[in-house]
Amino acid sequence: MSVQALQGLAQIRVDTARRDAAHFINGEFTQGLTSKGWWENRSPLDNSVIGRVPEGGQAEVDAAVHAARAALDGTWGKMTVAQRTDLLAAVANEIDARFDEFLAAECLDTGKPYSLASHIDIPRGAANFKMFADTVKNVSTETFILDTPDGKSAVNYGLRRPKGLIAVISPWNLPLLLMTWKVGPALACGNTVVVKPSEETPLTATLLGEVMNKVGVPKGVYNVVHGLGPNSAGEFLTQHPLVNGITFTGETRTGEAIMRQAALGVRQVSFELGGKNPAIVFADCDLDKAIEGTMRSAFANCGQVCLGTERVYVERPIFDSFVARMKGDAEALRLGRPEDGATNLGPLISQEHRSKVLSYYKLALEEGATLVTGGGVPDMPGELALGAWVQPTIWTGLKDDARAVNEEIFGPCCHIRPFDTEEEAVRLANSTPYGLAAAVWTENVSRAHRVASKMDVGICWVNSWFLRDLRTAFGGAKQSGIGREGGLHSLEFYTELSNVCIKL
Ligand code: NAD
Repeated sequence: MSVQALQGLAQIRVDTARRDAAHFINGEFTQGLTSKGWWENRSPLDNSVIGRVPEGGQAEVDAAVHAARAALDGTWGKMTVAQRTDLLAAVANEIDARFDEFLAAECLDTGKPYSLASHIDIPRGAANFKMFADTVKNVSTETFILDTPDGKSAVNYGLRRPKGLIAVISPWNLPLLLMTWKVGPALACGNTVVVKPSEETPLTATLLGEVMNKVGVPKGVYNVVHGLGPNSAGEFLTQHPLVNGITFTGETRTGEAIMRQAALGVRQVSFELGGKNPAIVFADCDLDKAIEGTMRSAFANCGQVCLGTERVYVERPIFDSFVARMKGDAEALRLGRPEDGATNLGPLISQEHRSKVLSYYKLALEEGATLVTGGGVPDMPGELALGAWVQPTIWTGLKDDARAVNEEIFGPCCHIRPFDTEEEAVRLANSTPYGLAAAVWTENVSRAHRVASKMDVGICWVNSWFLRDLRTAFGGAKQSGIGREGGLHSLEFYTELSNVCIKL
């Protein structure tokens, strides 16, 4: 992004009224049907109050679910694929048209740099509607001719119908991107949704309600209820008997809780969960590219990316120079305000999350780590001193069974460890209960294929990271997820496939 463009972005501000979030139920904004109360949405930058968020309870969830059911049986359910997908393309265009507003709201909630959100979060928010609208227009299903015992034949074909009412539970790290990654395909396939966004990041989900109304998406198709997880809107929604499917992105432990909640009524789930992702760096790699890619994967979004790298395995001959260069680059990262074009990293999402990350910084040292850089709280100027900042951190020297090497920290940190053989690197990479993503750095094409084929992960990058084609399958192996989403793969969850058999 150009300096001028960034300076332009620095002028963007969210107007005061829109800093308060609202539920969006049946096409209308409401602050709550019962007075369950509000919580203060605080800025991760300086802990100041951004605005208020109404806490939804059973009444709001019931109202949203009934609105979503009525929309399925009403106009939305009767639309042709072309009418539906034209509306979703219009949603994408409207997000583009209100790009600055979405950008400012997302960065207000998360504190992430404009330079990051303007490249990733907001464009992907729009692309998620456009891509899935295009995908469902091109669906064809298989057809078989069967000979019947009486010497005739029958034709069988698969018919994909909407699953019904989808509950969307989304996290805070890429709020608009990850929510629309679910809302886009759900609506493209003809379902309706009730979204429970993360309590940390309520603004862009609220703003999307305005977009839905503006382009004429019928009432009740997209609903938002704010609230917490357990014993609040999240739990009430995932237990609601009228919900047909639950799509969730978040922590693996939360996934376990939601799976128990989904068991009532045997609702289907699609889960994108946590990770403790490895990178394997072979001595035959392009070292500049491997350093650049590993820096991004460890530190982008202040380490709050599910696909981010927290374990780096480096072939011994290049280990020392790799660590030295990572140290230099990590120390050059600039922490600062979102609108400052020089900012590389923002703060963590909240004080609570900072306490968790700092407890791992402490634990790593207790477990015997050598601190290469960071490990604490940076000196931030003025009111930023009150924000949720931590230093980018690198360790070496931890044992393979250390908790800091095996548990997801979700902060700007990584552990770097040397290896001697390809087999050892593969074994170490696969050694946690997670299996979301891996990155392999090598210029040897045979090794690239061989190692990729042995990774127990949903996505393996070679000589890259976060390069995403939205048509491809996305999801996690082992405890990192259930199911795959992306392109036609999303149809597996968002539609019911019926077989129709017609005797000729
Ligand atoms: P989280 O699990 O704490 O919360 C996610 C959402 O679940 C929130 O909206 C929360 O309110 C809700 N929730 C919590 N308990 C619930 C319950 N019992 N019933 C219903 N809803 C409930 O996750 P987070 O801290 O917001 O996000 C960070 C986590 O998400 C990390 O573990 C990260 O790896 C993971 N993540 C995974 C992917 C992926 O694609 N695999 C992508 C992004 C983030």
